[in-house]
Amino acid sequence: MSAKKVALITGSTSGIGLGIAKKFASLGHHLVLNGFGEATAIEEIRSSLAKTYGVEVRYHGADISQPEEIVALIESAEAEFGAVDILVNNAGIQFVSPVEEFPIDQWNKIIAINLSGSFHTIRAALPKMKAKGWGRIINIASAHALVASPYKSAYVAAKHGIAGLTKTVALETATLGITMNAICPGYVWTPLVEKQVPDTAKARGITEEQVIRDVLLHSQPTKQFVTIEQVAGLAAYLISDDAQSMTGSILPIDGGWTAQ
Ligand code: NAD
Repeated sequence: MSAKKVALITGSTSGIGLGIAKKFASLGHHLVLNGFGEATAIEEIRSSLAKTYGVEVRYHGADISQPEEIVALIESAEAEFGAVDILVNNAGIQFVSPVEEFPIDQWNKIIAINLSGSFHTIRAALPKMKAKGWGRIINIASAHALVASPYKSAYVAAKHGIAGLTKTVALETATLGITMNAICPGYVWTPLVEKQVPDTAKARGITEEQVIRDVLLHSQPTKQFVTIEQVAGLAAYLISDDAQSMTGSILPIDGGWTAQ
């Protein structure tokens, strides 16, 4: 891709989203960061990406569970840069509990952030992509878009929903120069995974070490965590010219998990 683009990545103050932001900045693309965190830490991320890679980097603190804040996020990016060329729906949370005890507010929050948030960003960003005749949308789904695990009812439901949304919008935009794909990582060691270890230990009645060895890495034939850089590399491919014919694809990067 010759011209530099504008990439908006939700949930890019940590983990996979931050890794994708770094990768895209290294390719020369301008960034709109989003996500929660301490203001000074976020400013440090913003300024260091801008300085290291010589790109424009903005930050918007929209809460992806709130549709009106998403509209403000897209409007602010478009006011700043003209359009969002590349949209990465990455913001996500997890909660682990047996379904009959699953707190209703946690169910609603996970569906709002992990599923509905992507509908709202896509809905708001698509008109400008259509006008430009070019766009790339990547949804960070999960191996849990393809298979389930117990005690993660909301997360698995939301991620399966993202797979359906990906295919549907890909069909609606197929002739318009816009592609939309879902990346489905297996376990990547990030704060999201680290935080669920104690609750999984409690739900299954095992130790935290057993959760890592017998639950998380047990799912992955490679017995290794997927790395943030590997996921970012796949995202970089999906925004490249070579990926023009890839759309509506639900792509596992999971150490063989979903091959079983
Ligand atoms: P993380 O906790 O490191 O990062 C999550 C990011 O989302 C953070 O920047 C956080 O501030 C942001 N966020 C959370 N709630 C938000 C909200 N309401 N509004 C705006 N931003 C919000 O987690 P991660 O592991 O990097 O996860 C990123 C994505 O990757 C998620 O969608 C997750 O489901 C998916 N994923 C992760 C793994 C894994 O093993 N880590 C595997 C498959 C899929």
